[in-house]
Amino acid sequence: MERTYIMVKPDGVRRGLTGEIISRIERKGFKIVAMKKMVISREIAETHYGEHKGKPFFEGLVNFITSGPVVAMVVEGPQAISEMRRLMGATRPWEAAPGTIRADFATTVDENIIHGSDGPESAAREIGIFFKPEEIIG
Ligand code: UDP
Repeated sequence: MERTYIMVKPDGVRRGLTGEIISRIERKGFKIVAMKKMVISREIAETHYGEHKGKPFFEGLVNFITSGPVVAMVVEGPQAISEMRRLMGATRPWEAAPGTIRADFATTVDENIIHGSDGPESAAREIGIFFKPEEIIG
């Protein structure tokens, strides 16, 4: 059993795609063990995306992710980290496989609807940034 950090980004929330995304996660058979709608502070955004600090898109990414509410989740299930990445599709929506969330709902890399942890260390780190242990209900 694995847990991963999933976030509907501000573009997904603005476009009313939260329900669609939750639905896909649940239909897959994964369990949402924590969820909240929140506006991310700049400080949290910079911590969350710390590995991208110094890259040309970093400033825009922080501006975007703090531009409106997100829906943050912890998703649990077998191979949840890699399986959620598969359901999401590639970072660049035009490279995402048909039927994935990014292929179906996004056109640009900077507004690509959804975040999902890319490995066990980042999953543990990101879940810890956004949720207290008592907010996770298995
Ligand atoms: N990003 C961007 N421009 C780029 C590359 C990445 O705006 O040229 C954003 C994009 O929203 C992406 C996020 O930075 O989702 C994190 O990048 P990463 O490579 O970690 O992709 P992800 O894990 O989200 O697929």
